[in-house]
This record gives sequence, structure tokens and C-alpha cells, in this order.
Amino acid sequence: MIKIENKFLNRIVTYFFDASMEELKNLVDGEIVFVTDRNIFNLHQQKFASQKTIVIEAGEAFKQQASVDYIIAELIKIGATRKTTLIGVGGGVVTDITGYAASVYMRGINFAFVPTTILAMVDAAIGGKNGVDVGLYKNLVGTINQPQFLLYDFNFLQTLPNEEWVNGFAEIIKHACIKDEKLFTDLENNSVDIYKKDVQFLSNLIKKNATIKTNVVIEDEFEKGDRKLLNFGHTFGHAIENLHQLPHGYAVSIGMCMAAKISEEINGFYSEDKLRLEKLLKQYHLPTQCSFDKANVFEILKKDKKRYDASIDFILLNKIGEAKIQSIPLTQLKDLMNQIL
Ligand code: ADP
Ligand code: ZN
Repeated sequence: MIKIENKFLNRIVTYFFDASMEELKNLVDGEIVFVTDRNIFNLHQQKFASQKTIVIEAGEAFKQQASVDYIIAELIKIGATRKTTLIGVGGGVVTDITGYAASVYMRGINFAFVPTTILAMVDAAIGGKNGVDVGLYKNLVGTINQPQFLLYDFNFLQTLPNEEWVNGFAEIIKHACIKDEKLFTDLENNSVDIYKKDVQFLSNLIKKNATIKTNVVIEDEFEKGDRKLLNFGHTFGHAIENLHQLPHGYAVSIGMCMAAKISEEINGFYSEDKLRLEKLLKQYHLPTQCSFDKANVFEILKKDKKRYDASIDFILLNKIGEAKIQSIPLTQLKDLMNQIL
């Protein structure tokens, strides 16, 4: 087990890599209550034996306030107190909901995560953003509050469906685009199948990506500046994800291609690098385009959280491995969309 401490503003968050869920009992004082989803619970029941476990339904459709209310009702039934630690074991949906429920139950109890998807390991479980969707609006309600620790048990990945591996690699490619050209090249020289076959190789990739995300967040926990770079591909991505019920990684992949095209139009991003990105996404079985209704997408963009007045903070690439925040007026964005589509 490798232990790394990360200093966030109000808390040190310890990451335990190459760990096993059995080690949790040595890490937590007091009662543990697990939150997980039905798929993970069914596939890994033995890991939850002997602990109180709240099981929610799987999938983004259940990332709603009703699931939080259910968890709170169960916590009351169990008799959870301020000494209870709530541990979310799952993908981004479970970790987001768990962090939020723990942050409001009794005005806040301890919580921690065991991420079980690639996406949660490199992204969703890191950074303290917790919350739920409200109707079509993703992550509209929530808190920023860091967990006590993250425990990485790669054993869970043995049951992860292929589509979820692909989903997670969209965020890994995003990290390479905005922060790490060397990682981009490493990814070009490998494939999902190579990472799947070699746990140590995968573990190094996950550690590297968890570190990239963590460092960006630590520099700017409340998203005043550079944390916004993590939204690369997400402005368009979220809009088409909602409209077309796409998996998050697929939507982000298409969003990154849109952002690369806009970068080419207005930021001097090389056309060859745009093609390099498209090639890498395809290599990791991610889509690079889809047909969508421009007017509908534009309506959703207008309501984006990153919008201020008549402009939107958009993430563009200067080159592979380096990104910047650019405020783009909505009117210009509309023109750009018409131009590149
Ligand atoms: P994310 O936001 O991390 O993509 P979700 O929480 O939406 O993830 O999970 C995606 C899907 O994968 C859900 O159906 C979930 O039940 C399932 N899942 C998560 N982890 C595992 C795992 N280790 N093995 C099998 N299925 C998993
Ligand atoms: Zn994302």
C-alpha cells in the first residue's frame, strides 16, 4: 500500500494506492457505513459483508436529491452519529452523492471514498466537489468538501465493463491535453487493452492522473482560475451529454474535439495537433463527433454554470499539454459553432 498525503485548504486528504478494501478497518476510528450502488454490491458482496451498507440504484439518472434523501433516511434508521464515517464505494455517481449526503447529515459527518471506476479514480472522487443533478442540469446543487481519504483497490476493476474503461480514458486524455505532453505521447504508444493487462502499469497511470487532478485542485480549490482548465471538453460535453443521453466520457471526447476546433480557429492551435488528438481519442475507442441540434445545444450552453453575463469561460488549447481560459461572448460562440459544424 502506498500512502500519499495531499494538503487541501481545510484538510489533508490521504490517498492509499495499491490498497485493499479490507484495510479500511485499520484506517477508520468508529463506525463505518458504506454507500454503494446495486451493480457493485451484487458483484462484490463479500467486500461489504459484516458492515452496514446503504445500496442506491446505479446510474446517472439516480444522481438526484431523492437518492440523498434515501441515504439520510437510512442513516437515521441505522442510528448513524457524528462519529460515523460514510464511505462511498463506487463510480462518480456514488462518490458525488455520498460526499453530499455526508456533508449535510447532522451538518456534516466524516466521509471517504473507494472509487471503483477509472473515471472516479482519476477524476470524480478527487477535489471535493459533491452533489446531484437537478433534472437535466448536471451538478447544479452540492457542496465543496474534501473526504478524509481515498482508498484505491484495483481489484474492483476486474468487473468494470469495457464501456466504463473507455469513459475513464476520456478524462485521462483530457489531463494529457491540458497539463502533460509526455503523458499524451505515452498514451499514443499504448492502448486500453495494454493497460488492462498490466495492473502495475495501470496503477502508475492512475497515480499520475490522480496527481495531475489533485495538483490543479490544490492550486485553486474554489475554481477562481486554473481549476477551470479541468473543464476542457466539458462545456459542449455536458450539453450534448444531457441532450443525447451519452456516457460522460463519450460526450467529453466530442466536446474536446469541438474545443480543439475552436482553439484552431481563434487560438493558433495547430491543425496537426487537432488531428493528433482525434487520432488518440479513436485509438481509445472514443467518438470524435455526433450529430446534434445546434439550437438545442446553444440553449443549454446559455445556462452553463461557467457563464457570466453574456460570455462563457471556455477552455482552449495553446498546444498539446497546455491550456488556457478564454472568455467567449455567447454571440461569438454561436458564430463559431456555425462555422465549425
Ligand atoms: P462514473 O461517474 O465514475 O462513470 P457511475 O457511478 O455512473 O460512474 O458508474 C458507471 C456504471 O459502472 C454504473 O452502472 C456502476 O454500477 C458501474 N460500476 C462502477 N464500478 C464498477 C465495477 N468496479 N464493476 C462493475 N461495475 C461497476
Ligand atoms: Zn468529466
